[in-house]
Amino acid sequence: MTDGYAGYRSKLVEALQLKGIHDMAVLRAIATVPRHRFVPEQLQGRAYDDAALPLSQGQTISQPYVQARSCELLELTGRERVLEVGTGSGYQTALLSMLAETVFSVERLPELARGAHEVLRSLGYDNVTVLHGDGTMGWKPNGPYDGIVVAAAAPTVPAPLVEQLTPGGRLVIPIGPPDVQVLTLVRRDDSERGFTETPIADVRFVPLLGEFGHTPPES
Ligand code: SAH
Repeated sequence: MTDGYAGYRSKLVEALQLKGIHDMAVLRAIATVPRHRFVPEQLQGRAYDDAALPLSQGQTISQPYVQARSCELLELTGRERVLEVGTGSGYQTALLSMLAETVFSVERLPELARGAHEVLRSLGYDNVTVLHGDGTMGWKPNGPYDGIVVAAAAPTVPAPLVEQLTPGGRLVIPIGPPDVQVLTLVRRDDSERGFTETPIADVRFVPLLGEFGHTPPES
């Protein structure tokens, strides 16, 4: 990507390495994806700070460190089918597009889904499909998934998401009440039907609203 922001992206990569991100493919994706294209125009000057920024509709583009860590926890090799829940800006979708073979991303707010679809298309991320709907249900027709990443806070692990994991598949999801959550890695066993849950870090996300999430305000 030749634009005026390559130096800022390199600095962000260095900052993430210092914070413990080691996966070279993830760092390469951070060095490549133009985050300034995914944030509101008036915030483009801050696009490469390691900080969450406001999007439209009261939503948030997550902190790059948390997004990089979530991608790293999926241990992607480039051959996987991945589901993202909570497309938002589409920035993490673009990172995943570089790390996996196919990416499906579900967003419940139609305006955000449309905006993310347009920017991802215009930048040529062609292995990505943005879907509009309730991602707490997963997206069964395109599953099962080797990796699922949820970018909004759930009260508990939504059952449909673990059901749509392949054996050995990984789910990264913030679990907990609205004020603070624990980023959690759920891994489906290779052979049996069991799961292991590993707490990773305290995080703060906007709520996951839907059938297997928090109750949306309108219902
Ligand atoms: N990864 C995004 C994060 C966006 S914030 C980014 O970096 O821009 C979380 C997003 O999850 C919001 O856009 C919100 O609308 C969406 N969301 C909340 N509940 C959802 C659900 N049940 N299904 C799909 N998306 C949901």
